[in-house]
Amino acid sequence: MTSGDEVVVALDVGGTGMKCALVRPDGATVHAERHATDAARGPEAVVGTILDVAEGLAGKARADGLTPVACGIAVPGVVDEARGVAVWSANVGFRDVPLRDLARERLGLPTALGHDVRVGGLAEARLGAGRDAGHVLFVAIGTGIAAAHVVDGSAAVGAHGAAGEIGHILVRPDGPPCGCGRPGCLEAVASASAIGRRYAEVSGTPATAAEVADRAAAGEPLAGRVWREAVEALADGLATGQALFDVATIVIGGGLAQAGPRLFDPLRTALHERLTFHREPRLVAAALGDQAGCLGAALLALDTLAKESR
Ligand SMILES: [Zn+2]
Repeated sequence: MTSGDEVVVALDVGGTGMKCALVRPDGATVHAERHATDAARGPEAVVGTILDVAEGLAGKARADGLTPVACGIAVPGVVDEARGVAVWSANVGFRDVPLRDLARERLGLPTALGHDVRVGGLAEARLGAGRDAGHVLFVAIGTGIAAAHVVDGSAAVGAHGAAGEIGHILVRPDGPPCGCGRPGCLEAVASASAIGRRYAEVSGTPATAAEVADRAAAGEPLAGRVWREAVEALADGLATGQALFDVATIVIGGGLAQAGPRLFDPLRTALHERLTFHREPRLVAAALGDQAGCLGAALLALDTLAKESR
């Protein structure tokens, strides 16, 4: 059981920055701070910063008369949640870092380690745009595309900590090369970066995905074509997701969701066209913005605490 003054120390570690917070068991954030990850310093220095920041947050909680009861840390890449190990991460440089045990030793608190997109999905499914649905697919679209399948408030991790890599569903066999080494993956066609890249290729003018959306809406034919191709590919990926998971709600987050109706209107239509006997999911924008990872890390820590005290 938790009482009124209890908080969780939560950190969402990204390639460039760390979002950190003290979160109450009901999901309310009582304090938030941000720090630079500065991944170029190497993984050991990043781990040092994570532990220092977490310890600082626990101290801040105590100084404010609050009781830190657990710690949750979200990191990108491949994460073995059962062993609490950051297995691999391209943008932070982690290779088999036992982050959960390191934090537990430093803080003396039960600690959980989670994957950034999976805990983001956890937060959206329990506190955000998917909160009325038992079966939710959260899809984060930014520089890459990744997903979390959340059933009754729990996100599937996979046998090797790599569930939800929807960005590497093959959608265009003759498409552009993906960072993973294979051509035609969903994220090579429909991520925000891919849209910008494609537009630059066909128009000779560099642009962000948001600018492509703006130009498409303003009637520029090239932008319209690039945007449409990306939406079609996304709909292919989501239709595959729906065939696999049969969710009630698909929550789209990440930078591309900022395009609003310019994304959601055509995407809803394209997804509708692709579904035959499958039930059509509700398609909605994420509600928690860039706080989802931090809130999800806190939820994961609370879940761990509940399991340990059972
Ligand atoms: Zn790929």
